Amino acid sequence: MEPQDLQRQPLGGAAEVQMCQAIFPSHANHLGELSAGQLLKWIDTTACLAAEKHAGVSCVTASMDDIQFEETARVGQMINIKAKVIRAFNTSMEVRLKPVTLLTEQDQVEHDLASERRKVRLQQEDTFQSLMRESSRFDDVICDQEDGMVSTGDTWVQSIELVLPPHANHHGNTFGGQIMAWMETVANISASRLCGSHPILKSVDMFKFRGPSTVGDRLVFNAIVNNTFQNCVEVGVRVEAYNCDEWSKGQGRHINSAFLIYYAIDDNEEVIMFPRVKPISKDDVRRYRGAIARKRIRLGRKYVISHKEDIPLCVHWDASNQAYLSHSNVDALKGLAAKSGWEVTSAVGKIKMHTLEESDVLSVWVEKQVERPANLAFDLLSDFTKRPQWDPHYLSCEVIDLVSDDDTIYYITCPKVSGSKPIDLVVLVSRRKPVKDSNTYVVAVKSVTLASVPPSPQYNRSEITRAGFLIQAVDSSSCTVSYMIQISSSTLPYFAGNLGGWSRSIEETAASCIQFIEKTTIGRFINK
Ligand code: ADP
Repeated sequence: MEPQDLQRQPLGGAAEVQMCQAIFPSHANHLGELSAGQLLKWIDTTACLAAEKHAGVSCVTASMDDIQFEETARVGQMINIKAKVIRAFNTSMEVRLKPVTLLTEQDQVEHDLASERRKVRLQQEDTFQSLMRESSRFDDVICDQEDGMVSTGDTWVQSIELVLPPHANHHGNTFGGQIMAWMETVANISASRLCGSHPILKSVDMFKFRGPSTVGDRLVFNAIVNNTFQNCVEVGVRVEAYNCDEWSKGQGRHINSAFLIYYAIDDNEEVIMFPRVKPISKDDVRRYRGAIARKRIRLGRKYVISHKEDIPLCVHWDASNQAYLSHSNVDALKGLAAKSGWEVTSAVGKIKMHTLEESDVLSVWVEKQVERPANLAFDLLSDFTKRPQWDPHYLSCEVIDLVSDDDTIYYITCPKVSGSKPIDLVVLVSRRKPVKDSNTYVVAVKSVTLASVPPSPQYNRSEITRAGFLIQAVDSSSCTVSYMIQISSSTLPYFAGNLGGWSRSIEETAASCIQFIEKTTIGRFINK
């Protein structure tokens, strides 16, 4: 740790607390890695101490937002946890709180993000319920039977803990972090039953404590795997508390339910692919669907919470390198389509949405059935000047350079979404008809930079890393159109609402695209 990290915080700013811990074997698992439960305990204690510094009274954890675990700390390393009160919401606490004093621009950004997160938190239950209602309509799609599916019965784990004074604060309230640490232990064992190896915690879904627990409570933990998503698994844990009287009557209090996501690696350090699970009982099916809904909410929220900026990846357009750029544009899209790990996240009518999550990169694939021949869909979709006719995210699209029959550079403008300015883009669109053994038409899109079209002060210049359409003939009069896009921070606002379940713009745009192609009669099209 640098000495400046230990400097005292300026007086009058947001309440800040730091905790520095050396990681000892007692904090670690058998591999010498800091256990996620111990880390959750430290995070909770530090946050609680910051809250108390601001409020001037004893605080307990009410809820926690999504937590992502990015790196593993090991025995012998030091860990420094910083907690800062970003925003005080009166209604969520029993004491009237003084507002936080914001000193820096960063404080202001964090303060605004806190209100975004609060909105998401308050909407969570409604969003979840609406996603659950929606998913019951496409049960057959998500519960498709396939070979090698496993039932989750063997992953059930139950455990009990007695809350003693070291597990609680000086008022006798059980530390939230301690409860989370116990939950993690049970969930970890449950996940290990499915992967047969050592599961690693990837994230914990946002959750809230439903009621208090105190010294003397018996806490009963029940955990089971709810669903698997290719290389990760969701384990749910429910905690019930019983005091002595309740214990003898068998009437517990529901304290908390949490959903933890694990992945696992094999002996060769390769990420393990989990088998699909087969929901059997009514509860299994509800939890299986619940896991899908939570995954969608998580994806939609991930970027609102992490507030990450992209590194520009745009390539400079150079006519001498035209063949290579065109080829790599097409290859990038085909490569994205060929990746393993795509998951169906929704299916409504003729439109199916899939997502692919790779560490920090999220991609979306919208698949739709169109009652028109593939070559017609290809001709219409590869002419981007037509796109504003069906895509409300495109205001205008003009040709800048007709590079070849197959490659065109366009200048596109889009309405503003979250920022203060509308968006513009310069893209290379490369099209390919099917070759020999394939029946796939490709329309690949990638941002390029052109000296003749520099960024302007009226627009925020956005970027597409890889995107486009893949069109496949089903028969002579119908086809499947797939739109794929690797999401960047500038394109995320268009998708976040959809993934999170609070907007339908992807489905609406896809429906409008289908309509646009289907209303074009072949004769009319040729006459044009
Ligand atoms: P839900 O069942 O709607 O998901 P609960 O709060 O009842 O909500 O449970 C949260 C999670 O805890 C469940 O999704 C499941 O993974 C796990 N769980 C609940 N009850 C049991 C149980 N009796 N046995 C094993 N796991 C359970």
